[in-house]
Amino acid sequence: MIADRMNKIDASGIRKVFDLAAKMKNPVNLSIGQPDFDVPDIVKNSACEAINAGFNKYTPTQGIPELREKVTAHLKNQNRLSNRDDDMTMITSGTSGGLLLSIMTLVNEGDEVMFADPYFVMYKHFVNLIGGKPVFIDTYPDFKLTAERVEKNITDKTKMLIVNSPSNPTAAVYPEKDLKEIAELCNKRGIWIISDEIYSSFAYDEKFASIFPFAEKGILLDGFSKSHAMTGWRVGYAVGNKNVIQEMCKLQQYTYVCAPSMAQKAAVNALGVDISGIVDSYRRKRDIVYESLKNKFELVKPGGAFYAFVKAPGGNATKFVEKAIANNLLIIPGSVFSERDTHFRISYAADDAVIKRGMEILNELI
Ligand code: PLP
Repeated sequence: MIADRMNKIDASGIRKVFDLAAKMKNPVNLSIGQPDFDVPDIVKNSACEAINAGFNKYTPTQGIPELREKVTAHLKNQNRLSNRDDDMTMITSGTSGGLLLSIMTLVNEGDEVMFADPYFVMYKHFVNLIGGKPVFIDTYPDFKLTAERVEKNITDKTKMLIVNSPSNPTAAVYPEKDLKEIAELCNKRGIWIISDEIYSSFAYDEKFASIFPFAEKGILLDGFSKSHAMTGWRVGYAVGNKNVIQEMCKLQQYTYVCAPSMAQKAAVNALGVDISGIVDSYRRKRDIVYESLKNKFELVKPGGAFYAFVKAPGGNATKFVEKAIANNLLIIPGSVFSERDTHFRISYAADDAVIKRGMEILNELI
């Protein structure tokens, strides 16, 4: 009954965690990968106004012009664009939409797609689904992505490198110098770079740097899910060479059609909202987590996003997570994001009281 390609996606790891979680009453939940603040009022009001004004129909496939212009200006302002004048911006259905469209547009069956291990789960599944081969760049124990680590994994089948900084789940933020070296290597070898910058607003210790301006063949992906807590609104964007972006638009036309109309209208105003207070509060939450765990656990200080990726005492993450769940704390085993099962992911996108209780439980488990 079910098509063979569905066997290429294995969601059993995360399903097991959620099955266990379903039995928990009022868990201390540090598992959720989405902001705990709400969408800014001006954005909510703009969406309501758009709906009431009848802005409810299909939009152009590539997105409404005012949002495309605003996004392009915003990225330019943040020095995240290249100097090429043949680049184009399209609006996608979330950053995931941009990921699927770009992988489907560029990767042939048998092509190899590299990314850092630990990785964001969708990369592996999307690449498998379209018949590509995921190549895992081992970044343990410091979670840095360097040109040296990338180079070791290049073969004559390599088509693409996916870069995700700040990273989910490791919270690593790659310095500009490393990104430049990686881009130079990929440029020399003709490798495409997809830069997933969805956590670009959440870099706590150093300024966020994009690899996109250095990549000769690159696509920048970002969106409003994390920066403006608009996870359910499904608005993202993709920038790259217009020939490739136009192919992605062609695919969008026959799949997602367009990003939601009212959400696009509202997103125009989202880019003007000052989110620095939120970023400061997440930096503080990061500090609570790091200071609470650093003496008893092995972890790299998280540099961005809203995660900590911590070594499981005893070395078996699934076992440790089961123990945490038995003590009412919900966290995710590293095997969901990695070919290894040695670490666990904490999301600190939660209330301070919940974070503190979670840290107490973890420290009692040792
Ligand atoms: N990329 C990364 C690294 C993520 O962590 C997520 C969401 O968790 C996404 C992409 C997808 O985000 P969106 O809601 O914009 O599709």
